[in-house]
Amino acid sequence: MQKPIHVVGGGLAGSEAAWQIVSLGIPVVLHEMRPARKTDAHQTDDCAELVCSNSFRSDDHEYNAVGLLHDEMRRAGSIIMRAADGHQVPAGGALAVDRHGFSAAVTKALTEHPLVIFERDEVPSIEATENWNAPVIIATGPLTSEPLADSIRKLTGEESLSFFDAIAPIVHRDSIDMSKAWMQSRYDKVGPGGTGSDYVNCAMDKEQYEAFIDALLTAPKTDFKEWEKNTPYFEGCLPIEVMAERGIDTLRYGPMKPVGLTNPHTQKRPYAVVQLRQDNALGTLYNLVGFQTKLKYAEQSRVFRMIPGLENAEFARLGGLHRNTFINSPRLLDHQLRLKQKPHVRFAGQVTGVEGYVESAAIGLLAGRFAAAEIMDTPFLQPARTTALGALLAHITGDAEAETFQPMNVNFGLFPPITTGRGGRDRKLAYTARAKEDIKPWLEFPKPLANDRLIIRNANLEDVDGILAAHQKAVFEKASGHYPQHVLTSWSPGATVERKAKLANEIQDPEHIIIVAYHDGQIVGFAQAIPAIQELRAVYTESSAPQHSGSLLLKEIEERAFMRTNKLVCHSSLNAENFYTKNGYNKVTSAHHVLSDGTEIECVQMQKDFRVTP
Ligand SMILES: Cc1cc2nc3c(=O)[nH]c(=O)nc-3n(C[C@H](O)[C@H](O)[C@H](O)COP(=O)(O)OP(=O)(O)OC[C@H]3O[C@@H](n4cnc5c(N)ncnc54)[C@H](O)[C@@H]3O)c2cc1C
Repeated sequence: MQKPIHVVGGGLAGSEAAWQIVSLGIPVVLHEMRPARKTDAHQTDDCAELVCSNSFRSDDHEYNAVGLLHDEMRRAGSIIMRAADGHQVPAGGALAVDRHGFSAAVTKALTEHPLVIFERDEVPSIEATENWNAPVIIATGPLTSEPLADSIRKLTGEESLSFFDAIAPIVHRDSIDMSKAWMQSRYDKVGPGGTGSDYVNCAMDKEQYEAFIDALLTAPKTDFKEWEKNTPYFEGCLPIEVMAERGIDTLRYGPMKPVGLTNPHTQKRPYAVVQLRQDNALGTLYNLVGFQTKLKYAEQSRVFRMIPGLENAEFARLGGLHRNTFINSPRLLDHQLRLKQKPHVRFAGQVTGVEGYVESAAIGLLAGRFAAAEIMDTPFLQPARTTALGALLAHITGDAEAETFQPMNVNFGLFPPITTGRGGRDRKLAYTARAKEDIKPWLEFPKPLANDRLIIRNANLEDVDGILAAHQKAVFEKASGHYPQHVLTSWSPGATVERKAKLANEIQDPEHIIIVAYHDGQIVGFAQAIPAIQELRAVYTESSAPQHSGSLLLKEIEERAFMRTNKLVCHSSLNAENFYTKNGYNKVTSAHHVLSDGTEIECVQMQKDFRVTP
């Protein structure tokens, strides 16, 4: 019997995680707070809504890291990539989509999947997930609701949850011109883990500095959105162009101060210095210290290439400031994306500190498979870190510097370096060729559950027809030796409009517990209880259900009902008396049961008492 995995958040990551799990034959409860609780950016009730651009960026899987990630996700059966491919719009080398068609396709695939139970509710805290007694994936995104964000902060510590990203541009180390730049820490300070020459320094003379400030002031900026204006970060983390507006020398006394540094190329103390700090354990990426910015992307490349030594800089990511809730993953998560403090909880998506639709969905894909493997008792397998999925995972779960952790896109700087002796495009091709080979073993992980495995899960509205069909089959197969044909017809007249409506109401009524046994693509049994009135109303299995399905259904519904009552009473049909006796029920009395059309049938009143006797 398979318990569900709970996924919180039906965005890019949560949808992908849920899809990966159900594709492996494990049920999912997907919690999404919209529409009851909205975010500042989402406009619809759909899963996987694209809140801004409709682009999944480059689709070039040979020369581009995000294109490679597309390729790996497609090969892993990603629903996000399937829906994107199905709703593509012309965009040159990029993969852009019709946003409504795309989200509608993801929503349809999930809501119609028999193993997905969709709960439109806000999960208020990490503690609330403990009641489910099941693995959980939190994929609540950059706009995680406040109560949940609060609970994460309380659990993990003030400094482990950020509410905005203040991203300084990051460049590939090998694109810095070291004939102009040099390695040195201010005052040659060694510091913990340092050598005294930990920073790349780019010097400016007075003329270069003034031209740079002028470019910063005149370059077009991105506007703050109305709701971003209230985010309380500005004084603590000012964009450099805002600092520059405060006076010509503000930056020279701030992040560009030249003190403690001597340019070995000129033997002079510089007028101003831009420092770059190592950004990943591999030493392939360096960030421009203190250079968070709202300059438009094209302008950033132009203006920052004015810095001596960065004329040919290749940017792994450009700077930005956004409202964004994300955790300090390198500190908080293990290599399986589990919260170290509460390993039943995994995190996925942008909240883990990746950036972008594709990267968020990719982490959802990983979290979904990891959670499924755990529940299936399959040994963990990490994707090779030479792959796009593996490189991204390694970055957020350990490689990135926890102290300066900021959200990251996938890029070749996250991959272990490759020495081909060739540069540029050849090297990129070598990265992607290596990744395509190395991803293969992981795509087999974990093996799907055999299709004939029995799954017991909560009923949902899509199950109405299946439940009524299983009921009818079970009644005619099992009770025909005890009751005449016309009674069986009154008992189970099939899927009439009234019965469908009644059952649909009961499925939605929190007083009713209704669970189904699912096997080989169909519902083969179900059980129903109403703990408030101590009633066990039904346990039915039809002949194609695996052996013991009835007992498993009964055990599961009892487990749930006895959280709310200490006794269950049922009207057992004559054919089922033995079944209930074997499962610990006692006969109270012979009785009559009145069917919905008024027909009375003979039955046995049975009872199971769960009071713990001292
Ligand atoms: C304004 C804005 C613009 C962006 N523009 C771009 C862009 O152009 N391109 C790009 O690649 N990326 C962009 N991003 C980043 C983008 O959000 C992510 O790339 C992506 O949507 C993240 O996916 P996710 O699944 O992690 O989060 P989301 O897609 O946001 O999904 C999270 C889901 O969780 C739900 N949720 C939140 N809290 C709870 C709760 N307590 N209980 C239940 N449900 C909850 C939310 O309603 C939401 O549906 C933008 C982000 C923002 C905020």
